[in-house]
Amino acid sequence: MSAMWDLPDYDDHEIVHFIRDIDSGLSAIIALHSTHLGPAGGGTRFWHYADKMGAVKDVLRLSRGMSYKNAMAGLPMGGGKAVILADDSRTKTPEMLEAFGRAVEGLGGKYVTAEDVGISVADMLEVAKQTSYVSGLPAQGDHAGGDPGPFTAFGIFLGIRAAVRHKLDRDSMDGVHVAIQGTGSVGGRLARLLAEDGAKLTLADINDDAANDLAAELGGETASTDEIMGVDCDVFSPNALGGILDDASIAALQAPIVAGGANNQLARPEHGRVLAERDILYAPDYVINAGGIISVAHEYFAKTEGREADVSDVRERIGEIPDRLVSIWEEAKDSGLTSAEVADKRAQTLIGRG
Ligand code: NAD
Repeated sequence: MSAMWDLPDYDDHEIVHFIRDIDSGLSAIIALHSTHLGPAGGGTRFWHYADKMGAVKDVLRLSRGMSYKNAMAGLPMGGGKAVILADDSRTKTPEMLEAFGRAVEGLGGKYVTAEDVGISVADMLEVAKQTSYVSGLPAQGDHAGGDPGPFTAFGIFLGIRAAVRHKLDRDSMDGVHVAIQGTGSVGGRLARLLAEDGAKLTLADINDDAANDLAAELGGETASTDEIMGVDCDVFSPNALGGILDDASIAALQAPIVAGGANNQLARPEHGRVLAERDILYAPDYVINAGGIISVAHEYFAKTEGREADVSDVRERIGEIPDRLVSIWEEAKDSGLTSAEVADKRAQTLIGRG
């Protein structure tokens, strides 16, 4: 067992649960990094991992990321994450999701779950049959809640505007060229918000049709998934996978700004320094992409008080993201730390590990 504690990503997790439900075929891991600020909040990912250690490392990294994200967003929530390990056929059944819900319920409120990659609102409704420690459920009328993707996209949109003002000294997005990697739930909505604001777009997605259709609708262009990081543009916005900023890809970047929603964008922590050395302004991922968890948290805490969450409250809290980014960039400039290091330092202090 010592190997588990020694993993760099273990980073003093409070507890890690391994779940197996033979009847439904569920295999899942729930990792709680910190409950210092409140119940550990973080989504559930449904993913096929080539090997099981890959799933362990992923959940640990994501869980710590949620501790930092929730702390930096000023939420009374700790950080946790769950992964459901998909089998070779990627079968996901209601029975599996209900078994997962029972596991969440068994933690008695220490962990609050919601959607992540591979898990839909409909899936969360299955989970919610077995536990009340769940958020991201369909919202009624004008209330906050449901799919966090649009809220995440809104925060990234505001963050990109702040980055353009800060780095390029431009007050308007008119003609600002943004290259977007991934046009799914977050990237697709971000593209729409940017297009409405006058930005020029280049889009790429492994689903060519999705990127082509959206580009045609918004009057943008497309690039291949191999080319998108090297597009000559003002902002590169990663909204697909983590780990995409490494030595080779940073060397190829032509954009002076990297700001997008993908979790864990830096392949390794030192890649924050590689970006800074190229004078590329980096928006720490868990700071700029907190819009979704802000919505999820408001929905959850409102539910525990027997009321609906107010969408204007959620938008107001998301509206704090740009100032938070600017203050990180300014501290980075004054201290010689990178923006990623400044964000990590602040987050660690907030969760009592500074
Ligand atoms: P999604 O699955 O809806 O979209 C991801 C898109 O990326 C898909 O369209 C997929 O085809 C595309 N893609 C995959 N590999 C690609 C590649 N190599 N090149 C280009 N495109 C590729 O997921 P999402 O909810 O939009 O989340 C996107 C990212 O943002 C993920 O890293 C996720 O963890 C992160 N994130 C999402 C939220 C949220 O609220 N949904 C919140 C915070 C962070």
